Amino acid sequence: MPQLTKSAELFELAKKFIPGGVNSPVRAFKSVGGTPIYMAKGEGAYMTDVDGNTYLDYVGSWGPFILGSMQPRVTAAIEYTLRNIGSSFGTPIEMEIEIAELLSRIVPSIEMVRMVNSGTEATMSAVRLARGYTGRDKIIKFEGCYHGHGDSFLIKAGSGVLTLGSPDSPGVTKGTAADTLNATYNDIESVRLLVNENKGDIAAIIIEPVAGNTGVIPAKKEFLVALRELCDQEGIVLIFDEVMCGFRVALGGAQELYGVTPDLTTMGKIIGGGLPVGAFGGKRQIMERVAPLGDVYQAGTLSGNPLALTAGLETLKILMEENPYPELERKAAFLEAGFRDNMQKLGLNYVQNRVGSMACLFFTETPVVDYKSAITADSAKYGKYFHSMLDQGIYLAPSQFEAMFTSYVHSDEDLEKTVKANYNALVAAH
Ligand code: PLP
Repeated sequence: MPQLTKSAELFELAKKFIPGGVNSPVRAFKSVGGTPIYMAKGEGAYMTDVDGNTYLDYVGSWGPFILGSMQPRVTAAIEYTLRNIGSSFGTPIEMEIEIAELLSRIVPSIEMVRMVNSGTEATMSAVRLARGYTGRDKIIKFEGCYHGHGDSFLIKAGSGVLTLGSPDSPGVTKGTAADTLNATYNDIESVRLLVNENKGDIAAIIIEPVAGNTGVIPAKKEFLVALRELCDQEGIVLIFDEVMCGFRVALGGAQELYGVTPDLTTMGKIIGGGLPVGAFGGKRQIMERVAPLGDVYQAGTLSGNPLALTAGLETLKILMEENPYPELERKAAFLEAGFRDNMQKLGLNYVQNRVGSMACLFFTETPVVDYKSAITADSAKYGKYFHSMLDQGIYLAPSQFEAMFTSYVHSDEDLEKTVKANYNALVAAH
């Protein structure tokens, strides 16, 4: 059991100055209980906390670290930019063209792209653009999908709010909430119903094509194909929110994996290589409406700054050169098989969902295909499981409804250690 004396002291101090002691709610360990751990150093697949405990990391800063923390090439590139170029200018820089061109080559839907500073900015901007482009107000999202903390999205919004047990947030106006309609993931009829009831009023349908904020829920291919057809028929902008699954489930994201191309794509996490970056892009015809070329306003003081772009560019270059995806698949499949064997030995039959290196072990036997089935998972059992894994030096997301990310730098030894720990943790959870 790790000694968490200093973490506990820091948390007490933090609570005096920071709401709940944290800068993002799920970090507070509310659903699993116990002391949030203050990290002091990250390297590769490992993190060390302020009390000197080391953990094998399957959170990866909530997704960005597909290549591990402090990837040497990424770190060297950031250092170079900082020393030789600068951290920000607020003017155009050449690197912006380089990343835009690269994204247009990698991500099937991207013809033009705008860089922003977070996934939330990307989704907020994409929805404003879709509204401006179509002249319509309403959007459809899916129950349990999270698209950042923009007002329009905090309606049945998955992990963060799910973990806190409050599906909506005060402060979101009734008008805004009324413009967001929620459909059921993987259920095209639920979407058709909303589209028919709101004929001509739907600007956009936004979806995580691999839902990673209610655990992990893969979209069925035929569902995405049907969504594409419906959007084409009705003049609705289809937005894939690939902030989490982009560059993760395939280099070109879920749209490459499923072969379904949206009108707009939102990105984040991995394209920042650990620094704050987001982006939205897509069809030229739609993107040409973004200011100053068009009339839909969007801006950012630090958007496209060289430091963050360097981290993202170097990460993308490594992904292109090394193609880690088959290896990521092998590693994550090893964990899945190991966990399945452990469950068989213990007479357990919990659901595991996985797409490439995004996975979730749900403490339920109900197949998880949407939000309603996801919330049959037993969070209390997950809490015990989480703490047992932590005691064995393995850091998982402190919520049942988050993904477990395997990285390129998890070694075979790390994976074997994780499978052994999983057995003990499953025992501890029962
Ligand atoms: N969209 C998805 C699918 C996400 O998973 C997240 C964050 O977890 C966001 C948007 C918001 O991104 P950010 O936290 O960078 O604002």
